[in-house]
Amino acid sequence: MYDSFAEDYIPVPMKFVDFITRKEWKAKLPRRPFFEKQIPQRITVHHFIGFDEDISAKQMYGFDGIETMLALQKHDMKVLQLNDIAYHLIIDREGKVWEGRDFDCVGNHVKSNNTNNIGILLYGNFQIEEPTNGMIIAFKRSLIEIKVLFPNLDIPKCIFSHREFTFTECPGEHLYDIINNIKWGTNSIYDGVDEQ
Ligand SMILES: [Zn+2]
Repeated sequence: MYDSFAEDYIPVPMKFVDFITRKEWKAKLPRRPFFEKQIPQRITVHHFIGFDEDISAKQMYGFDGIETMLALQKHDMKVLQLNDIAYHLIIDREGKVWEGRDFDCVGNHVKSNNTNNIGILLYGNFQIEEPTNGMIIAFKRSLIEIKVLFPNLDIPKCIFSHREFTFTECPGEHLYDIINNIKWGTNSIYDGVDEQ
């Protein structure tokens, strides 16, 4: 794979999704020291309810492309003091997939369970809204791509919702149901991926 902290990094080869690389969203270089390496063994899904975890605040709740990605990265690096944006992929409501950390670098999305864990954020509050069809298709296509990159990863059985690790509503009731259906095969990762 590649090192996203290098100036001349090569993005993750995500060919079958509408993929926006770090370079395209003008990501800041991660902070040193660099990341621990990982060999992905699981994937954990998240939603987004605003920076304060205060639904009423509605901060940064709408998705505004590059501006939102830069705000997420800034928040994670300045407020949370992380090396970089916390997640490996960020999927917006239109189904665009934004590059976060390298898959082979440890993320920062599940307390005490970050190692070997790919973090995927679906942008929205799925406690109160339904994920869009476009973002679920983008999520499935991302899974198919990750499966090719990491053939030993047991997709979809290796997919978890954040709430399976800790006391949180994340990724919200609506998305949690969808993730469970994908995980247990009632909703195949190949269903609907040729749409749009
Ligand atoms: Zn979460």
